[in-house]
Amino acid sequence: MDKIITRFPPSPTGALHIGGARTALFNWLYARRMGGAFVLRLEDTDKVRSTQESVDAIFQGLEWLGIDWDEGPFYQSKRTEIYQEYIQKLLDSGNAYYCTCSPETLDEKRKAAMARGDKPKYDGTCREKGLTNADNAVVRLKAPLTGKTVFEDKVKGTIAFDNQELDDLIIARSDGSPTYHLAVVVDDITMGINTIIRGDDHVSNTPRQVLLYNALDYPVPIFAHVPMVLGADKKRLSKRHGATSVIEYKHMGILPQAMINYLARLGWSHGDQEFFTVDELKDVFSLENIGKSAGVFDPARLLDLNADHIRAAADKDLAPIFIEQLAKLGIQAEDGEYLYQVMETLKPRAKTMVELAEKALFYYQDTIEYDPKAAQKCLIPEAIRPLEALIEKLDSVDVSDEKQVENAFVQVMESTGLKLGKIAQPVRVALTGQTASPGIFEIVQILGKAKVTARLRAAMDYIRTQNA
Ligand code: GLU
Repeated sequence: MDKIITRFPPSPTGALHIGGARTALFNWLYARRMGGAFVLRLEDTDKVRSTQESVDAIFQGLEWLGIDWDEGPFYQSKRTEIYQEYIQKLLDSGNAYYCTCSPETLDEKRKAAMARGDKPKYDGTCREKGLTNADNAVVRLKAPLTGKTVFEDKVKGTIAFDNQELDDLIIARSDGSPTYHLAVVVDDITMGINTIIRGDDHVSNTPRQVLLYNALDYPVPIFAHVPMVLGADKKRLSKRHGATSVIEYKHMGILPQAMINYLARLGWSHGDQEFFTVDELKDVFSLENIGKSAGVFDPARLLDLNADHIRAAADKDLAPIFIEQLAKLGIQAEDGEYLYQVMETLKPRAKTMVELAEKALFYYQDTIEYDPKAAQKCLIPEAIRPLEALIEKLDSVDVSDEKQVENAFVQVMESTGLKLGKIAQPVRVALTGQTASPGIFEIVQILGKAKVTARLRAAMDYIRTQNA
């Protein structure tokens, strides 16, 4: 079998959105799985809507996801000569012809056809005229008038269109510039693309493109048209459903591997498996398992999957992202053992990297700001005695040993006659400012004796001032 060559050809008219990222991912995974190549091409012929900003945003999205390409980026805007060469080939082989019908005439004919109840379609006026290039002439493909254009789709099965329904497609405008279908097919041919995975909004374009392959005498690629991504209301995914650009998810603290996992499962499956690493996906992704029904984008599911990936990630891989998120909160944290210990206590509790950083603040702050409700409930005069007793006990304890820390708490329970909760809760608020946190012994161990003692003293001072 030939080497598989897939492509991602976004039109740079906006950021990389969920649907586009999924298309890119499927093509990339399939190329990786098959030991093939993945081509990036920017379909930037719409001069009004294409912007450099969008090109940059697409690169940024792909880079974040870790989707790399083997060839390109190619820009359609720089390939005009190649398109012209192929238009000429089609003219020379008699598969295309010049048409001088004016837009006004075509418009009248279209209206008349509709009034008769016929399908508006080019009537072939110039088809057999044998015109040579003239001012304002367009070039049309000489499409078959009868029969069917049939192609096999890996997702949808056999798809057939009546040639009668298909027009003599314009392939070059009167200024000589190529039209969309011509450019796409010439690109796919010259880039050696043999597998096209794309959204099923392109199904109706495919027969026209197949006719171009036939006219150019090139084998038709394998197609896999993937159902669109929908929102929870089963409408096509749009801003109404939340963030649609993938990079927004980076800012929300989603890990790229979680996004990849989520996008892969949006319209593709592998038994019941939900959690995949990127390497695993590269091993098992197949066209056969693309589903026939639309994937529904569910942000809550993405968050759950992100939590799983946070838990599964190696600390050293999470560290740079964690440091970046902490920096956004004004904390300059250093990579190292302290950071890893902090992360370990919080990984089971965070759904996003933003949350992980927010929950880590108390590990880095010099003064603890108490949550008012937590303070009101736990930093009360009755807490002074256990806090004081704990400071005393910790004095003779090696806090790097969690067992010894636990023992200190047990001794305070014994000496005060209080239950663990009555001791641990004020301590927790003193050390973290909150009533919920990772395990209190772990926190003491990580913060170290000096910080713990200072925070317990500060809490006692706070209680005294409140009750003075
Ligand atoms: N540029 C087209 C788009 O962004 C893709 C064309 C194709 O996949 O053939 O929808």
